[in-house]
Amino acid sequence: MMETPYYLIHKDMLDEGMEKLKKALADYWPNAAIGYSFKTNALPWVLQYMKEQGCRAEVVSQDEYELAEYMGYERMIYNGPVKGKESFLRACAAGQIVNLDAKRELGWLREACASGQTVQVGIRVNFDLEALCPGEASGGEEGGRFGFSYENGDFARALEALSGIPGASFAGIHLHCSSRTRSLNIYRAIAQTACRLRREYDLKLSYIDVGGGYFGGLANKPQYADYLREMSEILREEYDPAETMLIVEPGTSLICPPIEYVTSVTDAKETNRNHFVVTDGSRIHVDPLMTKKSYFHHIEYAGSESQRECLKKQVVSGFTCMENDRLFEIADGPALREGDRIVYEKVGAYTMCLSPLFISWFPAVWLEENGALRLVREKWSAREYAQASLWKEKET
Ligand SMILES: *Cc1c(COP(=O)(O)O)cnc(C)c1O
Repeated sequence: MMETPYYLIHKDMLDEGMEKLKKALADYWPNAAIGYSFKTNALPWVLQYMKEQGCRAEVVSQDEYELAEYMGYERMIYNGPVKGKESFLRACAAGQIVNLDAKRELGWLREACASGQTVQVGIRVNFDLEALCPGEASGGEEGGRFGFSYENGDFARALEALSGIPGASFAGIHLHCSSRTRSLNIYRAIAQTACRLRREYDLKLSYIDVGGGYFGGLANKPQYADYLREMSEILREEYDPAETMLIVEPGTSLICPPIEYVTSVTDAKETNRNHFVVTDGSRIHVDPLMTKKSYFHHIEYAGSESQRECLKKQVVSGFTCMENDRLFEIADGPALREGDRIVYEKVGAYTMCLSPLFISWFPAVWLEENGALRLVREKWSAREYAQASLWKEKET
């Protein structure tokens, strides 16, 4: 048995999600590209997998841009409100897809074009999703903060500024929105907005980037085919797939479902007020923002569970020294004991990449393929923890 805690990637589930996405794109908008959202899970094995699947790197910072280069990606989609100037210029020179999100980037673009270079860019559109889908936008009444506002005229001003830069041309719009619901409504609103922009500004676009934020791997929720069918139907009123490429930027829907987190019970203890089950896992590895109310999980009892005492309440808790590192409660269940395992499911998105290095270092990651297991990240030791630190004077 492998030492817990560890993450476990199920390759067949990952493949299945990828195939469904590719099929939906082929069925509804064959001229399409997938930009894998690095920020959702940038484990190097995952990045290699996505590259082999033909995905572009969807990156939102200079560090991520450099990671994409390091991992050997040839095609990037450079988004984000705070890009690095160096990587921005490099992306322009390399003909990558760059979606402007800040006024200073117009200045950088001017510099990029000053040497006679021609550069195509897109613009991230900030539009009032909450007005179109009340109660559904992540920003709620406060609104989203990314991109150039369509409603207040900033988008039009950015277009105009762009047309005043010799050598620069406008190639696409980026409409990613994060929502509370991931509903089909959101994507209809995105597609409708793309159509409205085309009509109002007579846009000729080589791409429409509708972003990510989809559900994945849940049978009772919308599927890729549903999202793509809805968007395609609306977009076809104004756009022709032969002329305009559709870009999707999935993160969660691809990488959340296939990853589990395996933990062991290390102790069970009574206190005056509670019965705690202590485990070697932690919320910081499955819910680093500590916002979730429940977790997909199952319990693997070591030996028989039927002969165990039934407890009214057990509080399953984590290894950190934080009181709120309590994962879930079991009501009227067999008493858990040392050696039992608790496996959290669908934990591949915004977990590994957001976990702090708090009292323990990053856990191992295993890959399961056709029943065989392979290590794809060693557990970090003190060596990796200290790797870039300079705590004694350099010897000469
Ligand atoms: C975060 C993000 C994504 C991916 O979102 P998911 O919810 O993980 O699918 C895609 N595009 C952009 C611009 C993002 O910021």
